[in-house]
Amino acid sequence: MAASTSRVRPLVAGNWKMNGLSAALAEGRQVRDRLQEAGFAAGVDVMICPPATLVAALAREVAGSRLRVGAQDCHPAPSGAHTGDIAAEMHKDAGATAVIVGHSERRAEHGERDRDVKAKALAAHRARLTAIVCIGETAGERRAGLTLQVVARQLAASLPEGADAENTIVAYEPIWAIGTGLTPSLQDVADVHGFLRGTLVEQVGSAGDRIRLLYGGSVKPDNARSLMGVSDVNGALVGGASLKATDFIAIIAACGA
Ligand code: PEP
Repeated sequence: MAASTSRVRPLVAGNWKMNGLSAALAEGRQVRDRLQEAGFAAGVDVMICPPATLVAALAREVAGSRLRVGAQDCHPAPSGAHTGDIAAEMHKDAGATAVIVGHSERRAEHGERDRDVKAKALAAHRARLTAIVCIGETAGERRAGLTLQVVARQLAASLPEGADAENTIVAYEPIWAIGTGLTPSLQDVADVHGFLRGTLVEQVGSAGDRIRLLYGGSVKPDNARSLMGVSDVNGALVGGASLKATDFIAIIAACGA
């Protein structure tokens, strides 16, 4: 398998989803401290996206360190009568530098369509947050041979005008691989990421060559290194294995190796 696109600096981002009370900040501190050690995964960027209740507290804990804080989901509007929602500007104000949009759990549980995801990505850009735009096929779509068609449609309809390598990251997350312990073969990952790279360049021009393409779906300490070695995989979006600092640190180490 060819080495990862060397011109793109990898990112390992942890998505804590709806997990973590204030005691979980200790896991973030552990990651922060490991990243401070000289030479540890020096070529890798690292982010934790905790639930909204912990964004400000984690941002305070990691201020001045290499660890970045991201948020999960945002409302398209900057403010207004939207009880329970959080604007991208609010995440920014709390200390986030990025926000995950279009995660398959949001698409499935909240009926989010590509156009909603695009509006949220646009909101992220407006607030000067990096939008981490998630796409990926269901098991049925893969079985039917529709994977490339599905991710092409999602990418075309979810990425806003003005997307570039600074304000946008794309995470390919096959839905059937999320939280299941299943992963696609390395060849399948290479095929999808290679296709997405070409599609990104067609869609946004030369910036598409530098937009980070993360792989997500059951990334663990024991498979991270091989997944990260796949061409055009520029890092990982990690769910379950990001909750324990020791596992997340092992994944970061594997990505930096
Ligand atoms: C995710 O939901 O973004 C994810 C990648 O989850 P997991 O690593 O647990 O499969």
